[in-house]
Amino acid sequence: MNEAAATAAAPAAAPARVAACCCGQLRLAVRGEPMRVSACHCRACQRRTGSAFGLQARFAADAVTIEGDASEYIRTADSGHRIHLHFCPACGSTVYYRFENHAQFIGIAVGAFADPGFPPPQFSVWEKRRHPWVAMPDGVAHQD
Ligand SMILES: [Zn+2]
Ligand SMILES: [Zn+2]
Repeated sequence: MNEAAATAAAPAAAPARVAACCCGQLRLAVRGEPMRVSACHCRACQRRTGSAFGLQARFAADAVTIEGDASEYIRTADSGHRIHLHFCPACGSTVYYRFENHAQFIGIAVGAFADPGFPPPQFSVWEKRRHPWVAMPDGVAHQD
């Protein structure tokens, strides 16, 4: 099989996952597996999600198709890099993020997939802010 044929066959072999906001108007279809899945226990993720930690999956920007309207909130991380958080103007769910210093990636809130079969995190970051009862899966890489 030549390379062009292999590329053309790939979408049928791997059905797209869809992430959506609470009301459903903002939807992202992704192809392939996430490049990285991480839990973040930082205070900004706690406030953004309203939960004890954030859980996000990183995909190559060209593997993601975005439909619907998004509003944007730009947050400056402790590193000094700016993160563009995209949320639904109707229901307020933050569905995806873009990083000014990593424009080739899109981060997607794992909860937006509402899929218990989604791959678990390989990285757990900002653990010094972790709620002490939150346990991460075996084999995860821990980082303060
Ligand atoms: Zn919505
Ligand atoms: Zn965070």
